[in-house]
Amino acid sequence: MRREQTEEYDVIVIGGGAAGLSAAVVLGRARRRVLLCDAGAQRNSCAEKMHGFLSRDGESPGELLKICKEQLAQYPSVGFEASVVQAVEKSSSGFRVELTSGTAPVADLLLLATGMADALPEIDGLREAWGRSAFVCPYCDGWEIQDRPIAVSGGGVRSAIDLAQELYGWTRKITVCGHTESLSTAQTTWLHASGVRVDAHPIRRIVHDNGHVRSVQLEGGDCIDCDAVFFSVPLKQGSDIAERLGCKMNGARIEADDCNRTSVPGCFAAGDNVTHVHQVIVAAASGVRAAIAINDELVCRDVRQLV
Ligand SMILES: Cc1cc2nc3c(=O)[nH]c(=O)nc-3n(C[C@H](O)[C@H](O)[C@H](O)COP(=O)(O)OP(=O)(O)OC[C@H]3O[C@@H](n4cnc5c(N)ncnc54)[C@H](O)[C@@H]3O)c2cc1C
Repeated sequence: MRREQTEEYDVIVIGGGAAGLSAAVVLGRARRRVLLCDAGAQRNSCAEKMHGFLSRDGESPGELLKICKEQLAQYPSVGFEASVVQAVEKSSSGFRVELTSGTAPVADLLLLATGMADALPEIDGLREAWGRSAFVCPYCDGWEIQDRPIAVSGGGVRSAIDLAQELYGWTRKITVCGHTESLSTAQTTWLHASGVRVDAHPIRRIVHDNGHVRSVQLEGGDCIDCDAVFFSVPLKQGSDIAERLGCKMNGARIEADDCNRTSVPGCFAAGDNVTHVHQVIVAAASGVRAAIAINDELVCRDVRQLV
């Protein structure tokens, strides 16, 4: 993409996933000077296919990004830096961003589209299977495993039993692994009625064939044949920039209003980092909403300059 000579922008967007890219398209079409900085580690880049995106169901995540970047290149006021933002300073006039490429551009407004990161447990074989047959979201990957045997492991944003109850709509052949917390009466009744098995031993190793799960070996020595593993893992921000800037947090998420404004004036946030609904299409819509709010703020600035 063509980069303007000036290092001054209306907006710097940090993060080039669905949220950042769609915000940059809207702002580029509004003829704003935008710099999009991206480290290139989109959360689903490990996945072979992306599901549930209207008109792009089953597309590879890389193909979506490629098309987005090609389309973004049509807008000459948008620059792209494949670089990590390592620091952001706020001043009375805006934001100064330090990139690992060595440049330090400034902008009036900032959009954090930095995503969330999955804190994966250290399990032999998990990294190879992640996104191929080890998953996090039933809405993204449940259809592909319908009626097939799966293992479920907890320890993250929700319990393994909650995740198993959700997955029961897709398959009944479920073994919950590593669940040691005491069960409520309702959970015990549900487990009995559903036939879902619980093993207190956590997963020690994922046996896979080129990332495709064949079985899981448990700490106790048992081996469970299955075609996929679903994890509930802890989530953290994809970048600590929001916290370093002093943005108010809501648990692991950045607190943002209906227009994606954070508590720091001039700083907006969009995508996975502001919501618990983690889907590419939702992140893209969040980026659009933030971009419109950002442009509204720039319009107010432009009007003030003329009166
Ligand atoms: C295994 C898996 C499979 C999934 N499958 C699906 C699916 O099938 N369908 C679906 O709809 N959703 C799926 N998701 C969810 C989807 O990945 C997210 O909802 C989506 O990626 C969020 O988009 P985003 O733009 O908010 O963040 P991301 O796509 O994560 O993009 C954030 C970007 O910001 C960059 N960044 C972060 N910090 C910095 C920094 N300091 N400087 C520069 N750049 C930075 C990152 O490198 C990254 O490129 C899946 C998630 C996982 C984990």
